[in-house]
Amino acid sequence: MNPVSAETNSTSETTNAHVAAGANAPLEKIALETYVPPAKPSLVGLSRAEIAEQLGAIGVAPAQRKMRVQQLWHWIYVRGAKSFEEMTSISKEMRAQLDQHLTAARPEVVAEQVSNDGTRKWLLRLPSGDSIEKAHEVECVYIPETDRGTLCVSSQVGCTLNCSFCHTGTQRLVRNLTAGEIVGQIMLARDRLNDWAGRVTPTGSRLVTNVVMMGMGEPLYNFEAVRDALLIVADNEGIGISRRRITLSTSGVVPNIIRTGDEIGVMLAISLHAVRDELRNELVPLNRKYPIAELLQACRDYPGSSNARRITFEYVMLKGVNDSLDDAKLLVKMLKGIPAKINLIPFNPWPGTRYECSDWDQIEKFSEYIFNAGYSSPVRTPRGRDILAACGQLKSETEKLSVRERQALRAMAMTD
Ligand code: SAH
Ligand code: SF4
Repeated sequence: MNPVSAETNSTSETTNAHVAAGANAPLEKIALETYVPPAKPSLVGLSRAEIAEQLGAIGVAPAQRKMRVQQLWHWIYVRGAKSFEEMTSISKEMRAQLDQHLTAARPEVVAEQVSNDGTRKWLLRLPSGDSIEKAHEVECVYIPETDRGTLCVSSQVGCTLNCSFCHTGTQRLVRNLTAGEIVGQIMLARDRLNDWAGRVTPTGSRLVTNVVMMGMGEPLYNFEAVRDALLIVADNEGIGISRRRITLSTSGVVPNIIRTGDEIGVMLAISLHAVRDELRNELVPLNRKYPIAELLQACRDYPGSSNARRITFEYVMLKGVNDSLDDAKLLVKMLKGIPAKINLIPFNPWPGTRYECSDWDQIEKFSEYIFNAGYSSPVRTPRGRDILAACGQLKSETEKLSVRERQALRAMAMTD
């Protein structure tokens, strides 16, 4: 496919928040599929059956395959091996044979920023399949806290949806990440943090303990790759991050919400942001396809939700738009009967946006109402209007995270 012609589909309108937010704005752009697999495929992101297939293709005898798959799985996902050379329990000949045809490569890191408090941001360059085309870039952020370390992972380059308050939605270039590129983000975070088996930490536990699919892109518009990746991340014989410590955030792709519960079984976060369809149509245009009532029904039906496994409702605080006490009241009312948590996110403005973050005392009033209705403290640390820069609105520039951005990232990471 010619990427340029497909890109024109989004038109320059999508770079203009005013137009994109209008009722007639296109609901979504088309994702470009310009991924070209590397000459030597990476085993990262493949299921056990797919690895066995690759082994078959390079002539490994059927009787040997199961054992080899087990060995490779262990070396790659428990030990974090980046080359076959390191895999000393595999014979030298077999290692050479593997090396000739396959790799254990992760996405290429082109920039890394480390803050004083340990927050780290990596800029990744992914193959675009076209040398003229701008390189595909996504970010991945690690947020350490006392009781956990959360990795914010991307599912797409850009996003096909056009939420009017989201910077990612204005990007024209969109492509789905492969399962390997998604798992690869966790792998490279562990590489950079020296967080593989054998590493001695004061608590004995890993540094990356939680994963949130809150980076670039709509994970439920890349369902199969996200599912395959998260099943690998949760696999007990490998990376082993429990499903309860993995949260997938969606703008409300209703048909895939139940599938998420059935086929992945991770924690769910819903980007609600409005309690009336008219407003939500404008903030999250996907609402025109899947309105609030349908979305909430999917949440009621979400397999495995319970008081111990609550669904998180994200609500971005936009001044004079969705932050009145009436909104708070309706929010509480409409979530009745759903095991829910509410995360109030202070809006992070970006150049060209028509929205502003709610005033702090309005956020407090809103939060107090929700608290009194029985929802645990939704905003945890006071912060100003110009905060929050990473999850959900990851930028491709490699500027440094500010202190306030780091604080805000923590708020986003607090999903359980
Ligand atoms: N596409 C998915 C996941 C990525 S966005 C989704 O929409 O849920 C992660 C979160 O960041 C979402 O709740 C999103 O609405 C929010 N977000 C996006 N832009 C934001 C901004 N400028 N300020 C605050 N939150 C934002
Ligand atoms: Fe896409 Fe989520 Fe941004 Fe909406 S908020 S444009 S779904 S990344």
